[in-house]
Amino acid sequence: MNEKKVVITYKNGPLENAKRALSGLDLGKIKGASVLIKPNIGRAAHAGQGINTHPLAIAGAIEVLKDAGASYIAIGESPIVGVNTMVAFEKAGIQDIAERYGCELIDLNAKKFVNKEIPGSRILGFTKICQDIFEFDFILSLPVAKCHMHTGVTLSIKNMKGCLWKHEKVRYHQLEYRPGETYPEKTLDSAISDLATVLLPHISLIDGYIGMEGLGPSGGEPVTSDFAVASWNPVGADVYACLMMGIDPPDIPHLKIISERMGFSIDPAFYDVVSDGDYREHVVSYARPSSTLSVKYPHVVVHDCDSCSACQSTLMLFLRRFKDDMTQYLLDDEKFHIGIGKGLDGSIKKGTILVGNCTKLIKDLGVFVPGCPPVPTRIYEAVTGKEPEENEPEVT
Ligand code: SF4
Repeated sequence: MNEKKVVITYKNGPLENAKRALSGLDLGKIKGASVLIKPNIGRAAHAGQGINTHPLAIAGAIEVLKDAGASYIAIGESPIVGVNTMVAFEKAGIQDIAERYGCELIDLNAKKFVNKEIPGSRILGFTKICQDIFEFDFILSLPVAKCHMHTGVTLSIKNMKGCLWKHEKVRYHQLEYRPGETYPEKTLDSAISDLATVLLPHISLIDGYIGMEGLGPSGGEPVTSDFAVASWNPVGADVYACLMMGIDPPDIPHLKIISERMGFSIDPAFYDVVSDGDYREHVVSYARPSSTLSVKYPHVVVHDCDSCSACQSTLMLFLRRFKDDMTQYLLDDEKFHIGIGKGLDGSIKKGTILVGNCTKLIKDLGVFVPGCPPVPTRIYEAVTGKEPEENEPEVT
């Protein structure tokens, strides 16, 4: 098996892109084997919004796997907490595809979890993985290409986070490094790299038909880029999907850490690329999550000093969703004060909502919301003392 091989297709629509990319790989091992397709159906959203994997990309993968002689094919997902897996499958058009091709749909949360030890981990120590996935010979990761406000992108490796059991996914956003240990990357990036040491997809197929730019995984804008990338090498697939999105692979921390820890290459030149013509002519540059936060809500004051884009994006999502609920939590100047970043100091207005671990040192001056970054619903809970009506964390 040539694990340097990366196949890129474009301009054929989701079905044909997926078929051509996947069938460009040597699939001899698939004959007689069971395959779990792990798409990204993290939310109950219709196809074509860049949030979930396109159903026709999944159809394309199934057709190729059947042709290759797979003995059993299922589609499994553990979406974000608060989303019903089967409802998400139905809304995303995956149930129709499963019925058309006679594939099982699996709610990965329905069974128990396997508690995997992670020797030499940076931060996790262990992680809870849905039991079902270990019953298959092969896992095919089939994400939609998206920018991600916390991790830069979410592609075939990050997509494996959707194999984590229930709330385990949320835990990844609430971690802190062990005392005395520190790394330059965010804790979430280290956690994804820890997960990769025990769980990587066997095959990666990335659906770039309609992806998401900006504030992914759900708050960005759909972008039609009409490509697919396939490889037996998950890092190779993610590297080339990044390139197709106009993103430099070393800019993605989890790819960089995984390459350093596990000996994968993020150098595009390492891979043998098969594509119909020069793939560089088909690059569609995805807008990255913005690095500066502009807030246009008159009653909100944001104190931002040396924050990073992850906290800024969290804050933006929080304000987008909850700003109208905050009018009863104004301070004596009739403003809602919220602060992010490690540069905030004692001059901050007393009572400010202090978001993120970077503000921990001044936490006694206001309402502290831990996390690096915290999820928007945690801010809501800290401010109001109650859960939002829809219990739906904004991260996956
Ligand atoms: S707490 Fe927020 S600003 Fe600080 S490193 Fe984490 S995400 Fe960035």
